[in-house]
Amino acid sequence: MAKHTGPVCKLCRREGTKLFLKGDRCHSPKCALDRHPYPPGVHGKSTLRRKASDYSMHLREKQKVKRMYFLMERQFKKYYEMADKKKGVTGTNLLEFLERRLDNIVFKLNFAPSRPSARQLVNHGHFSVNGRLVNIPSYLVKEGDIIEVKEPSRKSSIFKVAMEIAKQNGTSAEWLDVDPDKFKGTVKRMPSREEMPLDIQENLIVEFYSK
Ligand code: SF4
Repeated sequence: MAKHTGPVCKLCRREGTKLFLKGDRCHSPKCALDRHPYPPGVHGKSTLRRKASDYSMHLREKQKVKRMYFLMERQFKKYYEMADKKKGVTGTNLLEFLERRLDNIVFKLNFAPSRPSARQLVNHGHFSVNGRLVNIPSYLVKEGDIIEVKEPSRKSSIFKVAMEIAKQNGTSAEWLDVDPDKFKGTVKRMPSREEMPLDIQENLIVEFYSK
């Protein structure tokens, strides 16, 4: 599967918003977007003055969300197609599919500092779902699923630190339950639209793909 290999901070600068791809650094004064709040490249500053066209508004929203979840175009479009086929509101369906990815759940449980880091930890086989190893970041969790750090990985300092953070912060997602003492999280239910990122205008993404 293709993956993004360039400097991730450029993605935030391009979208003009924090995508939180670098863990603690995103909350520190070292954040590249805070230090250089304009798009990368020699013409970066001048693009700020240009009025965005209708097409570019739709494109940028799609790119922002795709990059927030750290996906490539093919993967992202596949979620749109799945969302479009599913009964209900396409935009909400799309966000639900993105939120249900195992790497996103690991991030939301505070078991990893960012989505890219969560993806790497899942890839390396550190998690089980309902007692079975799952090393596929795109695995879609469902209501009642139990996500655990695998027994051998619990001794690693990465997870000891992560559980301390999870103890302090819990999870920001009301639809998840986190139990850091047991290295585990539970999907209580599927999220409502209000429980998914509110800074996304999913209608723009739907319009982008349906044009
Ligand atoms: Fe984005 Fe984080 Fe880099 Fe800031 S530090 S630009 S939020 S990835």
